[in-house]
Amino acid sequence: MSTRARQYDATVLRREQVSDHLVRLTLGGAGLADFTSTGIPDEWVGLVVPGQFQSRYYTVRSWSGGELVLDVVVHEVGLVTEWAARDVVGEQVTITEPRGSFAMPAGAQWLLLVGDLTAMPAMARIAREVGLDRLDQRSIQIWAEVPDDLTDYLPEGADVTWLVPPAEGASDLAAAVEAIDWPAGEGYFWMAGESAQMRAIRKHLMRDRKLPSTAYDVMGYWRGGATRQPRAVDPGPIYRAGKAAGKTDDQIWADYDRANES
Ligand SMILES: Cc1cc2nc3c(=O)[nH]c(=O)nc-3n(C[C@H](O)[C@H](O)[C@H](O)COP(=O)(O)OP(=O)(O)OC[C@H]3O[C@@H](n4cnc5c(N)ncnc54)[C@H](O)[C@@H]3O)c2cc1C
Repeated sequence: MSTRARQYDATVLRREQVSDHLVRLTLGGAGLADFTSTGIPDEWVGLVVPGQFQSRYYTVRSWSGGELVLDVVVHEVGLVTEWAARDVVGEQVTITEPRGSFAMPAGAQWLLLVGDLTAMPAMARIAREVGLDRLDQRSIQIWAEVPDDLTDYLPEGADVTWLVPPAEGASDLAAAVEAIDWPAGEGYFWMAGESAQMRAIRKHLMRDRKLPSTAYDVMGYWRGGATRQPRAVDPGPIYRAGKAAGKTDDQIWADYDRANES
């Protein structure tokens, strides 16, 4: 059986500036007719922009009425960021089949979400969908490390702690997490952002908090400190191989971090 993820052609229908560093791209067209959401609220797709063959990964902010919305962080240099910084309406892109890894246990009574700007699309979707399905917004706490005012981006009533990034392209989320006053009882911790911060947090959750790996999902979304990334490692095959080997999501994301470092 082929392990190649399915691909879809799409057209950029609209481009809107959500905030200084966040651009919303709405994709559509006949090529998306068979696109099917996984329903997992942190699901992502690979995006290949014109003239490139490498993909970068973006969260499905929404999929509705044949339109797929991606919110793209505009940072200094990179394949997608430089493309998305200009007027790209009408251009053709390719996206890959969606995958997701959020897996809150059935008995969870609270949810902690932590992330930087790249994690905002997933945190907004998770907070809304879990809030509609399972928990009230008071049981969902969010720590968002973002350079822009995104007060209206998260669901109304969300309990949000806004953190300012220490510098452009830098993150200090690990320190923020170590200072969290952890709620009692069973819950779920989800976090995404710069990979070095995520590695530090995995150690903290395992060694200090002694959480079972089913109680958290921590994902490195991008790697700081490097110049242009030579290639992005596709999380899809690693995810499928990990699942087939019976690994937990967290073990799979640790494998993904290692693959990105090699
Ligand atoms: C599952 C998953 C979901 C994701 N969802 C989103 C999403 O919804 N929105 C989103 O914007 N990103 C998301 N990301 C992160 C995104 O894939 C990376 O930031 C990616 O590297 C951006 O590609 P690029 O072509 O712009 O830069 P690249 O060519 O990959 O990198 C160029 C340089 O930019 C630096 N860099 C990369 N990203 C950032 C950043 N965010 N801030 C500062 N410097 C950076 C790198 O260190 C590198 O030196 C997600 C990643 C994963 C794995």
